Amino acid sequence: TWSAVPAGPPDPILGVTEAFKRDQDPRKINLGVGAYRDGNGKPFVLPSVKKAEELVAGVDKEYLPITGLPEFTQRAALLAYGEDSAPLKSNSIAVTQSISGTGALRIGGAFFARFYPHSKTIYLPTPTWGNHTPIFRDSGLEVKGYRYYDKRTVGLDFEGLKEDLKSMPEKSIVLLHACAHNPTGVDPTREQWIEISNIIKEKSLFPFFDMAYQGFASGSTSRDAFAVRHFVSTGHQIALCQSFAKNMGLYGERVGAFSLTTADPEEKARVESQLKIVIRPMYSNPPLHGARIASTILGTPELYSQWEGEVKGMAERIISMRDRLYDNLVAQKTPGDWSHIKSQIGMFSFTGLTTPQTKALAEKAHIYMTADGRISMAGLNAHNIDYFSESVSKAVKG
Ligand code: PMP
Repeated sequence: TWSAVPAGPPDPILGVTEAFKRDQDPRKINLGVGAYRDGNGKPFVLPSVKKAEELVAGVDKEYLPITGLPEFTQRAALLAYGEDSAPLKSNSIAVTQSISGTGALRIGGAFFARFYPHSKTIYLPTPTWGNHTPIFRDSGLEVKGYRYYDKRTVGLDFEGLKEDLKSMPEKSIVLLHACAHNPTGVDPTREQWIEISNIIKEKSLFPFFDMAYQGFASGSTSRDAFAVRHFVSTGHQIALCQSFAKNMGLYGERVGAFSLTTADPEEKARVESQLKIVIRPMYSNPPLHGARIASTILGTPELYSQWEGEVKGMAERIISMRDRLYDNLVAQKTPGDWSHIKSQIGMFSFTGLTTPQTKALAEKAHIYMTADGRISMAGLNAHNIDYFSESVSKAVKG
């Protein structure tokens, strides 16, 4: 029956981990996958998560409603939109729990494909997270790109971005990384966000935010929510995907939310009723455990402030690795300008290393990263940063 099914290509990011696992060298480093590691290179369960887990232990295992745990979705919306948000205060945000950020994007894609009357095209930044294109394509939308990253400056191509926004057909859907752009680590400044927001308003484009790293970028959940809150406060209707994979370290628990700001509570109720109809045949209802953990943290003042400190700790450890990597590369007189290592933000750095250089690093130094030169900063620590810097320096010198 399946003799005509062709073998598919391996996932470009998870394939890096496979190669890493096969390597037996004790110096090996995996900088492929975007999961936080502690100062000893080990997976990290946040102490606030452990406490919340104790509090929810032994509670029932009943089904959740289709749109998930109501306390969780309310608290997730509050975290993203902030307490001053007008649509939040007027009960006009339609929200559902989702299977982490990926599930939120997929629900959003399916909802737009079915109900957004003005366009079936979503524009993604070039480059973007590798899963965005298949998610939206499989949801039934047409996917196109807009300029975002400038190879020459290893920074934002702001002129190209603005030009592309201005030439999109009116009312097209535009995907925006709310903070800590993946894979580049390059974010617009606040002033640039304000300009982007104005153009999107003038062209009546629909801003569709992916916020997978709130708190993880700068260490502050409210600072990282700037773009989302600015758009909402200036009257945009937005779509928002949230993930608690990174900021709570709940990767495998699959905790997320999808929301849409609407005109009023009546419209919100209609939209939510249709979100349920989109979700029910996909997976019926979402998983319980992780949502209870996240909800407990967000809803318990002491745990909430502990968690804020822990997110800040993760962000700061990453920022300190950026500083060390930059200092080492400069001290080793590595050709090129490496200031982007420090100016980029979040889990990843787009190093500017070429595909042949990344290949040489894997073969000669047992260092693994994606072929586009992206590294997960969280994989670096005091034990491996010097070896990593020296190896990069050698690879660049050729
Ligand atoms: N969006 C972006 C930009 C991401 O980087 C990720 C995680 N790598 C996600 C969404 C979704 O991840 P998850 O489904 O694990 O929440």
